[in-house]
Amino acid sequence: LHFDVKTRAVITKDSRYVVVSLEDKTELQEVGEMRRNFVANVSHELRTPLTALLGFIETLMGPAANDSAARTRFLTIMDTEAKRMNRIVGDLLSLSRVEADRRVRPRSLVNVDSILRSVIQTLHPLAAARHVNLRLEGMEEDSEVLGDQDQLTQVFTNLVENAIKYGPENGEVSICITAHSNEPTLRGPAVRIDIADQGEGIAAHHIPRLTERFYRVDSHRSREMGGTGLGLAIVKHILNRHRGRLRIESHAGNGSCFSVILPYN
Ligand code: ADP
Repeated sequence: LHFDVKTRAVITKDSRYVVVSLEDKTELQEVGEMRRNFVANVSHELRTPLTALLGFIETLMGPAANDSAARTRFLTIMDTEAKRMNRIVGDLLSLSRVEADRRVRPRSLVNVDSILRSVIQTLHPLAAARHVNLRLEGMEEDSEVLGDQDQLTQVFTNLVENAIKYGPENGEVSICITAHSNEPTLRGPAVRIDIADQGEGIAAHHIPRLTERFYRVDSHRSREMGGTGLGLAIVKHILNRHRGRLRIESHAGNGSCFSVILPYN
């Protein structure tokens, strides 16, 4: 806890006393620290690919200037690193956009079922590359909620993409959509979308931290799969804006289920 302590002597006609006031600065300090950590994390995340790029540029301008085989190899790596920086910057922009408009609640009616169908179509090539079967189950009607079409598309893209990336090759990802007249988490009518994979699962102590920016269970695996560590932070902010929830159920060795719960309006 951080307090600012102020004392003041008060002298009146009849008495003298001292006023001591305590101002709780804990939250301000925490926000300041979070901001500093965030800037440090962003710098670190961007510096890694940038250092690689600078190293390869130097080599291509010097010792490897006339080596065409090395040039092709280095340019391929540089392309991967530049794309990685591009993804990080893109995700940071998405995050700051959703943080900026979190107070305004979306007002258009959107159809969750059709959003899921288009997400499945978009991710089909990624799933096919890993021989993963994407299965959509559940309702086709009554899946309209008040929401932002682009933001909800981003939520489901991030979650289904994770399920494909962190699930096994030749596995299955099931996406199940159900209506609840009284969803216990929201204590009211809601639509729930469960995205379940057959991956290695996540140990319990990681689960509460997964939506923190840049938090990864296995950094190497995340980077290898092209992850930025920002996907679930974006999901959380978008769902907050929709008064929705993200529930994560997972057991190490037993796959994971990420559930999105959105209120009916
Ligand atoms: P990333 O870009 O690294 O995938 P996310 O914010 O989307 O970042 O996810 C954070 C971390 O949560 C991932 O690095 C991964 O360790 C873990 N994770 C997310 N989804 C899954 C999943 N379906 N199965 C196992 N681990 C997951």
